Formats: sequence, C-alpha cells, structure tokens
Amino acid sequence: MEKKASIVSLEDVTMTYPSGVQAIKDLSIDIAKGEFVFIVGASGSGKSTLVKLLLCEVKPTSGKIIVNGKNITYLKHKQVAAHRRRIGCVFQDFRLLKDRNVFENVAFAQKVVGVQNRLVGKNVRRILSLVGVSEKEKTFPRELSGGQQQRVALARALVNQPTLLIADEPTGNLDPKTSMEIMHLLEDINAQGTTVIVVTHDNEIVNQLQKRVIYLKEGQLHSDEENAKYVEDLSIESAHLSQGAFESQEDDEIWGGLR
Ligand code: ADP
Ligand code: MG
Repeated sequence: MEKKASIVSLEDVTMTYPSGVQAIKDLSIDIAKGEFVFIVGASGSGKSTLVKLLLCEVKPTSGKIIVNGKNITYLKHKQVAAHRRRIGCVFQDFRLLKDRNVFENVAFAQKVVGVQNRLVGKNVRRILSLVGVSEKEKTFPRELSGGQQQRVALARALVNQPTLLIADEPTGNLDPKTSMEIMHLLEDINAQGTTVIVVTHDNEIVNQLQKRVIYLKEGQLHSDEENAKYVEDLSIESAHLSQGAFESQEDDEIWGGLR
C-alpha cells in the first residue's frame, strides 16, 4: 500500500520549559493528510504543549517538526504568523471576541487574510450554515450557549479552509450530549477532507468514536493505535507492588473503616 502524504511529522522532539519541566520527551509522530486523530493522556502529560509546538507558540529544545511539508522548527516571527493562519484551531474556552457578533467573529478571520469584502459575506454564511448556527448571525457570544459558542469558534477556525484543524479540549466546558454533537461535527468536517487532531482526556468520547489514539504519558509516547479505546493505564502505580499487595491495599481502603 502506498504511504499517504504526511501533514504533521515530529522527529525526536523534546521540549523543556525554562522552568526545567520537560513537557515533551523524544516524541516522534506521523499524521497523514485526511486523518482524524485523538491525542489523549492525563492532565500534565504534555498534550497542550504538543499543540503549542504545532502552532509555533513554543519551540522544541531538540528535534524537528514538519507541518504541511514545511519545517516549522525554527520559524521567524513573520513566518510564524503565516503558519498559524494556515491552521484552524479551537480551544476549551472558545476565545470569541466579546464585543462582536457571530457574523463579525467569523468574518474577522477572513479579513485578517485579506479576503475581499464582497466574498466575506458569502463565505461566512456558508460556514455558519455548515456548523448549524445560521440563525445566530447577529447574536453576541454572551447570549449563546457553550455548545453554540464552540460552533462559532469552529466556524471561525474553518472559514479560511485550513487543511489542518487542531482542537485542544474542545468539549472541556460542555455537557456530554453537546460534546458528542461537537464531535460528530468534527467527524463531518474530517469527512470533507480536513485533517483533524483532537486533544481530549474524555474517554467516553474517544471510546465511542473509535479513531486513531495517540496516548501521551509524562511527555512520551505511551501508545499509538488505530480504532483504539482510551483506558487510563495503572501499570506505573501497580508495577512496584505485587498483585497481592495491590489488592490488599485496595481492600484496606474499601473495608478498612468497617473492620
Ligand atoms: P496537558 O495539556 O496534557 O495537561 P501541558 O502540556 O499543559 O499538559 O503540560 C505539560 C507539563 O508542562 C506539565 O508538567 C505542566 O505543568 C508544564 N507546563 C505547561 N505549560 C508550562 C509553562 N508555560 N511553563 C512551565 N511549565 C509548563
Ligand atoms: Mg492541556
């Protein structure tokens, strides 16, 4: 089988914050164009740092990062801005402009890249319809539910037709039903050709969607599997205890108070 062109490639990437925390260690990942990938792991495992690396918000301490065929490891200021404009991204906290309505929030992304005014209206309306918030054009973010705000954030991320969409905990502030709706929307977007990378620690979502799952643990690649489930790994905690010792410790926690 022919290997698909890759859109994201990390080669032995390590990223240490100035504080000395090594957030990513010797990480090598390859994501092909058109894939839908979950990045999972416990809080502090390096997921957001990985996103920041892909957006050039932080630089690797060592290793190499290629996005869309371009080496982004050491981009200059101006190139960073151009690079970010080619990627759609959404976050847990939506990050909409509070003093602009839905239409203006999405149109803003088009203006930044210099799309002609007469085309902006058409593009914005098409994308608002795609994410299902057409009737909210004139509404301000504070008047929207969390789910609707995330739809608008998605519209803004997609309006310039990026080949890659990165979502860092996009459902972190949403209830389970709304979360699943947003995830199905991401699946639709992926089906139309956009590569989608979703960071999450929500195993319900991961287990239901059955996608490729890249599991980070303390900044390192713990596993990388297709159609995978996300089950928090307890091997570290149990490794230094014999099976019996582990069970009896659990026993004590459960029954200790009753004995
Ligand atoms: P996750 O998104 O999986 O919760 P992060 O990438 O945010 O993990 O964090 C990975 C590690 O890096 C953690 O130990 C965190 O405390 C540390 N870290 C994150 N951001 C910074 C920062 N700006 N400065 C120093 N350490 C940081
Ligand atoms: Mg995070």
